[in-house]
Amino acid sequence: MNNKAKIAYFSMEIGLSNNMPTYSGGLGVLAGDTIKSSADLKIPLVAVTLISKKGFFRQDIDPEGRQIEYPVNWEPSKYLIHLPKKVDVQIEGRKVCIYAWSYKVRSVTGGEVEIIFLDTDNKENTTEDREITAYLYGGDDCYRLKQEIVLGIGGVRMLHALGFHINKYHMNEGHASFLTLELLIMSKRDVESVWDERWVWDLDAVKDLCVFTTHTPIETGHDKYTYDLVKKVLGETVPIEILKTLAGENQLNMTLLALNLSKYVNGVAKKHGEVSKSLFPGYEINAITNGVHSFTWTCGSFVKLYDKYIQGWANEPELFVRSETIPDEELWEAHIKAKDDLLSFVKQTNGIELNRESLTIGFARRFTSYKRADLIFTNLERLLKIGEKWSIQIIYAGKAHPKDTPGKDIIKRINEIEKTIRDKIRVVFLKDYNIDMALKLISGVDVWLNTPLRPREASGTSGMKAAHNGVINFSILDGWWIEGHIEGITGWSIGPKPFETLLTNTNDAADAEDLYNKLENTIAQIYYNDKEQWIKIMKNSISKIAYYFNSHRMMRRYVTEAYLR
Ligand SMILES: *Cc1c(COP(=O)(O)O)cnc(C)c1O
Repeated sequence: MNNKAKIAYFSMEIGLSNNMPTYSGGLGVLAGDTIKSSADLKIPLVAVTLISKKGFFRQDIDPEGRQIEYPVNWEPSKYLIHLPKKVDVQIEGRKVCIYAWSYKVRSVTGGEVEIIFLDTDNKENTTEDREITAYLYGGDDCYRLKQEIVLGIGGVRMLHALGFHINKYHMNEGHASFLTLELLIMSKRDVESVWDERWVWDLDAVKDLCVFTTHTPIETGHDKYTYDLVKKVLGETVPIEILKTLAGENQLNMTLLALNLSKYVNGVAKKHGEVSKSLFPGYEINAITNGVHSFTWTCGSFVKLYDKYIQGWANEPELFVRSETIPDEELWEAHIKAKDDLLSFVKQTNGIELNRESLTIGFARRFTSYKRADLIFTNLERLLKIGEKWSIQIIYAGKAHPKDTPGKDIIKRINEIEKTIRDKIRVVFLKDYNIDMALKLISGVDVWLNTPLRPREASGTSGMKAAHNGVINFSILDGWWIEGHIEGITGWSIGPKPFETLLTNTNDAADAEDLYNKLENTIAQIYYNDKEQWIKIMKNSISKIAYYFNSHRMMRRYVTEAYLR
């Protein structure tokens, strides 16, 4: 039945629910939303990822405010079905056996998408190889390379073993680029003697099969391997000389490999499409702006509200255009219900009693320097002054990659600042951010804050989730917000408009200053003195943001612009 799937969606991480911790952040949650919308819309898609049996990690915070990491050790057999098929790949000259697990996402529409989780943890493999699919983004370059061989090459082989006939392979980020090599080998022309080795490789046949979505707007964000390592680990099934023409002369760049072997390439927001073009001149790079799965990212009280006033919204989010039909009082009630839920969760986990009347700001995402989680603390004195005038409280959550020391330092810094200002402004850091907590946060605060260093945020998606719950965005003009923002109508911007040429230089102090000014003179002002206007902006968030920035719209575009091309 599901073997009818014709599009294969490859992603290193997939975030569907808390039970399956096979994601680290936005990329994985986006993959999960992609799959859920495909199921709702009955798109014939099958997804491939790694089992990540020890997850990303579980986060705790020590008394000094530092992040501590623990492995997760979840039990796949509780949620997934083990498939009897087996394939192998060559790694360091050894045969590595891969089995798979299956999970089916079933939609109320009757649509269904299968996810194949690849797993090397079996008796046929060496102890070392059994660990290849254990840690999401764990280990060194060599470990990552092995994971990417299993995902790309192993994934294509597994789909064939399972009887799928795929006519589009969609790479969600460059991690899966090795799938192109397996397709290349399959497409190899059968000729006895050729004068030019390149002639036997049918690049166009592979290109016709491949779609590539890039997610990283900076050069260092792309996976690269030395050819010495590639020779040792991957071998030379595709000769290194050919590889160099496809993936870069000096190092194997996974993004270049995907760019050179995909007929359709896109960035994840309009701005990101442009930035990617300047990063990789000469390539045609399109843009399909991300979206989120509306039903998943709408909290209980808003589901009730929409079911009452906007019937059919979950499978047709365009209907959010009718948010005006919701009475103000009921919208506010639904918001207060979400806020109370969040505040009682905070009480339960951190023992802190927040004020339900206070303007509540939320910030939660991966902790990494460019996201500048601590921008709001740039000038503490100034912030505290605002706090004297208006009651504000801030809720944080997020994990830093175990090797990202600067990211971990920001977590520590925020926890330290919390201690020094707690009598004046309440700050809460919730540990172990995950999908369930994300829903509570993006629906339960009043304002969703986003302060990345532009143009580093390729898209961002958490603000779209907030908008689905009438939570108002306050964000740097970067990624999706450039498209979603109308000042004072759908939310508020921070810092200057992005200019074509202004790609990297920005000023923390100036951005912070703008943040303080708007928070003090516009946002708190409206929140406390003009509830009617506040509710209007909440409704606009639904009708002008959720209406468009959802994964149903995104998937329809992938189908018409990428898959059917
Ligand atoms: C949506 C989501 C993200 C992405 O947040 P951004 O602000 O887009 O970076 C990260 N982690 C979780 C758990 C999410 O649900």
